Amino acid sequence: MKTTYDAIVIGAGPGAIFFAYEMTKLNKNKKVLLIEQGKRVEERTCPIEKVGKCVKCKPFCNITSGFSGAGAFSDGKLSLYNQEDEDFYVGGVLHEYVGVEETKKLIDYTDQIYLNFGAEKKLEGIEHKDEISKIKTKAKKEGLTLINIPIRHLGTEKAHELYKKLEYYLEENNVDLLFETIVEDLIIKDNEAKGVKVKNTKTGDIEEIFGKKVIIAVGRKGANWLVNMCETHNIKTEAGVVDIGVRYELPDEVMKDINKYMYEGKFIGRPGPFKDKVRTFCQNPSGFVSEEVYDNNLSLVNGHSYKEKKSTNTNLAILVSHHFNHPFNKPIDYGRNIAKNLNELGNGNIVVQRLGDIYRGKRTWEAELKNNKVVPTLKSAVAGDITFALGYRTMTDILQFIRCLDKVVEGFANPENLLYAPEIKFYSNKVTINKQFETSVKDLYCIGDGGGMTRGLMMASASGVQMARILENKI
Ligand SMILES: Cc1cc2nc3c(=O)[nH]c(=O)nc-3n(C[C@H](O)[C@H](O)[C@H](O)COP(=O)(O)OP(=O)(O)OC[C@H]3O[C@@H](n4cnc5c(N)ncnc54)[C@H](O)[C@@H]3O)c2cc1C
Repeated sequence: MKTTYDAIVIGAGPGAIFFAYEMTKLNKNKKVLLIEQGKRVEERTCPIEKVGKCVKCKPFCNITSGFSGAGAFSDGKLSLYNQEDEDFYVGGVLHEYVGVEETKKLIDYTDQIYLNFGAEKKLEGIEHKDEISKIKTKAKKEGLTLINIPIRHLGTEKAHELYKKLEYYLEENNVDLLFETIVEDLIIKDNEAKGVKVKNTKTGDIEEIFGKKVIIAVGRKGANWLVNMCETHNIKTEAGVVDIGVRYELPDEVMKDINKYMYEGKFIGRPGPFKDKVRTFCQNPSGFVSEEVYDNNLSLVNGHSYKEKKSTNTNLAILVSHHFNHPFNKPIDYGRNIAKNLNELGNGNIVVQRLGDIYRGKRTWEAELKNNKVVPTLKSAVAGDITFALGYRTMTDILQFIRCLDKVVEGFANPENLLYAPEIKFYSNKVTINKQFETSVKDLYCIGDGGGMTRGLMMASASGVQMARILENKI
C-alpha cells in the first residue's frame, strides 16, 4: 500500500463508499484510501440472533461499524423525493449546500447506482394517492404533518448483499480499503490537513498516512470522536441538536393502512406545552427491534426489517429534537447521560415498558410482558420504567404526540404497545463546512451523518458522490 494518497476517507459507510465509487468513474488514476475501524461487510455478523442478547462485540459493534457503516444492518429504506416538493423534509440538509434541484439530480444519480448494484426496483408510497391524502387531512386536524415520499426498500439482507458487491467493485477498481484500523488522530499543520494517524486494532501498530485531502465520513458512530477532534484541532462547529426518544412497537394490524399505502409514514408535530419538534422515524413493518452499541458500551435501541423474515409487529422511532445553547451546549453529553442512566436501569440492556403502565404510573414487570398482547421482538430488552431516566420534557412530548397520532391511526395509543429506550440520534455538533464541504481547516472535508449534514442512507450516499465531483479537479 502506498502511504501518500490523493484522498483519504475516514470511515467506510455509504458516504465514503459513494465518494470512492464516483471517483473511480471520474478518474481511475486518483489514489483513494478508505480507513474503517470495523470489518469487511462479509465478516460482519451480529451474534444477537444466535445467543439472544447483545454480547457487546469487541472492539466495535458489528451493527454500526465495518464496510457500509450503519447501512449494512439498516432496514435499507432509501428515501427519495417528490418532484413537486420545493424542499427536503427528511434525510438531512445536503440541499442547503448544493441547492434543491441539484440535490434531486444527485439523488436520481445515486439511486441509479443502487439499482445497478441490485436494489429493489419497486418504489413504496407512490400509489394510493387518495388514501394518503385522507390520512394527511386527518393528521393536519391533530396538528401533525404527514410527509410522504417515495421509498426504495432494500431490506437488511439485501442491503448486505448490495454493499458486498460495492466492496468488491471498489477493490477491483484500485481503491484501497483498510479494515480494523482506527483513525486516532488527524495530522494538521498550520491549519492544513496532511493526513491521519492510525492504529491497527489487532496488532496495535501505529502508522501515519498522508494524503492531499482528508475526508471525515465517520457517521453517528464517530460523533464522539469528531467532537474530540474538533476540540483538539480547533475545527469550527455550530451548536448541534440531539434527537432523544423511544422505539415504539405495536401490532402490524394497527399500522396496516400506513404500512400498505406508504411503507413508512413520517409524521411531524410540535405538541404542547413545549412545542418541541417530535417526529416518527425509521418505520419497520413486520420488523424487529434491534440493539446497537456505541462508544463506552452504550446500548441504544433501533429497528429494522427483512425482506423475507417477518414478525407481526411494526416498530418506529418517536424522536424529540433538543437544542441547547447557553450556558450548556453539549447535546451529545446530554444524550449520553440519559442513555447511561437507562442502561443502568436495564442492567446494561435496553429497557422496555408498556404504554399503559406509564399512564398508570408504574413499571412493567417481566411476567406482565410475557402475557402482553404485543410480544417484544427484542428478546434481550428488560422490563422496567423508562420514566426514571427520560426527562419530563421528552416524556411529555412523546406521550402528547402518541395521543395526537392515536386520533389519526386508531390503536396507536393502545396500552399494550411497547416503548423501548434509549433511542438517541447523536449528530455531534454540526461541523461548519462551506459549499465545497471544506471545514475551517484547509484540505479537511466532512460528509455524511457524522458532521450533521445528513441523516439517512440516500443523502449520505449522495453527499459522497458530490464530494468526488468537488474534488476531482483539486487533487
Ligand atoms: C439499525 C439501523 C437502521 C437504519 N435504517 C435506516 C433506513 O432504513 N434508512 C435510512 O435512510 N437510514 C437508516 N439508518 C441510518 C443510516 O444507516 C445512516 O444514515 C448512514 O449509514 C450514514 O452513512 P455515513 O456514511 O454518514 O456513516 P456510517 O454509515 O455511520 O459509517 C461511518 C463509518 O465510519 C467508521 N468510523 C467512525 N469513526 C472512525 C474512526 N475514528 N476510524 C475509522 N473508522 C471510523 C464507523 O465504524 C462506520 O463504519 C439506519 C441506521 C441503523 C443503525
